[in-house]
Amino acid sequence: MDQKVRVRFAPSPTGPLHIGGVRTALYNYLFARQNGGEIILRIEDTDQTRYVPGAEQYIIEALDWLGIRFDEGVHIGGPYGPYRQSDRKAIYRQYAEQLLRDGWAYYAFDKPETLDAKRKEYESQKRTFQYDCTTRDSMENSLSLTSAEVERRLQAGEHYVVRFKFPAGIDITVHDLIRGDVTMNSNLLDDKVLFKSDGMPTYHLANIVDDHSMHITHVIRGEEWLPSAPLHVMLYRAFGWEETMPRFAHLPLLLKPEGNGKLSKRDGDRLGFPVFPLDWHDPESGELSSGYRERGYLPEAVVNMLALLGWNPGTEQELFTMDELIDRFSIEHISKSGAKFNVEKARWFNHEYMQKLSDEEVAALFAPQLEAHNIKAAHEYIVKVCGMMKERVSFPGELWDTCSYFFEAPTTYDPAAVKKRWKSGMTVHMNKVIEILETVPFDYEAIHHALLDEYIAGRQLNTGQVMNSLRLAVVGKTVGPDMITLIMTIGKDETVRRVRRAIDTIGEVEEKQEQPNN
Ligand code: GLU
Repeated sequence: MDQKVRVRFAPSPTGPLHIGGVRTALYNYLFARQNGGEIILRIEDTDQTRYVPGAEQYIIEALDWLGIRFDEGVHIGGPYGPYRQSDRKAIYRQYAEQLLRDGWAYYAFDKPETLDAKRKEYESQKRTFQYDCTTRDSMENSLSLTSAEVERRLQAGEHYVVRFKFPAGIDITVHDLIRGDVTMNSNLLDDKVLFKSDGMPTYHLANIVDDHSMHITHVIRGEEWLPSAPLHVMLYRAFGWEETMPRFAHLPLLLKPEGNGKLSKRDGDRLGFPVFPLDWHDPESGELSSGYRERGYLPEAVVNMLALLGWNPGTEQELFTMDELIDRFSIEHISKSGAKFNVEKARWFNHEYMQKLSDEEVAALFAPQLEAHNIKAAHEYIVKVCGMMKERVSFPGELWDTCSYFFEAPTTYDPAAVKKRWKSGMTVHMNKVIEILETVPFDYEAIHHALLDEYIAGRQLNTGQVMNSLRLAVVGKTVGPDMITLIMTIGKDETVRRVRRAIDTIGEVEEKQEQPNN
């Protein structure tokens, strides 16, 4: 039977969404769209001790910023809601009871202190305690206690948990679309807690019940969940849902730029790049973690970069629109090994996407900086400057430093450049430049001809020296676009004013006397 593809992104609202989580959401989205399927946003908040206020809103805002749109979810509803697990609490008890009835689970009454003591005892013997087929008989649970005693404890309202009962000594195989078959022996697995006496399921139970009842066909998630997958496969078996069990794809980790270990917030702080999509203000500590959006990354650049961190298109192509990604994405081309985060590459992607913006769009991104510097300029002028200068920046935030001189005359002149270029006689040349600008028609060719061909070449002057001095006078340093274009843009009067100011400020330089060697 051909089933409609249905995937879900199921984050836990425990803080800002890590960029690796964003990639998981993106891959789910690409897969859903490519297959004409549906994608759901489900919030997995069963662990109330880790709940962080604001995190859910943050996740929604971040994915929306990146253009990852959902068909159903906590923010938009849908036919299989509610989509927040804490709102589904009443659903899970019956499933825990079904497992208990069918012998796939048992009540355990062990106090946290008892479990702690057991762990310590094992540790002192250099072993690790696991609640499993070898230890469960020695613990306090419905397998070791009489049914009357179990009944008594339940009636008395004692705290309990429901644990999964792994059958002893069986091989459990997870068919992973990226890794192939991954087999684990049940003896190595812990009887995980599925449900607690406060009525809350744990992640494992809620996740399987929800994926089943929301008709999820593919589970695409981070590699850190691979160790839980054998339990999940067993839960499908225990519920009798194996026929419709989703297919699994566990994505490789996002690694530190050096390639060893998982990318963490600390790496971001250390190397100066965000590991979160948006700025995040921790509600408890007030600490700020910076985000891609606020750093001036464009959402299309972030999407493109993330798509290629772990997936390989099989060609040299590096720039992909969302539609191209939807078209080209394939789970078969996801790598098994971790993907190294590359800060330079992230910058490069942003540069490329800045170039794709229209001059108007760049101008809109530049507006706050102009405002911060109290600059009022004609809209057309700003757009023109942005068009000329965008190729020189990777982030909108670099625009002011790159092109402030289009809006403000320099107040200082780079001393090294003055020393190198503004030689004796330069004030004479600069006065001549003023004269040329004031007499020839204000037109690119005319200025070029009069200045470069007639004056500089005609008198066999050093072009670099004169033109760089002129640039120094107009810009304050010796960088910038083509000089005549620059003059044409800022205008004759402004250029003349700036050259005069430079002549007055820097002044004439004494001819250096050759010092006789003695
Ligand atoms: N709630 C889990 C998480 O935070 C979801 C794992 C899964 O997709 O099954 O990543």
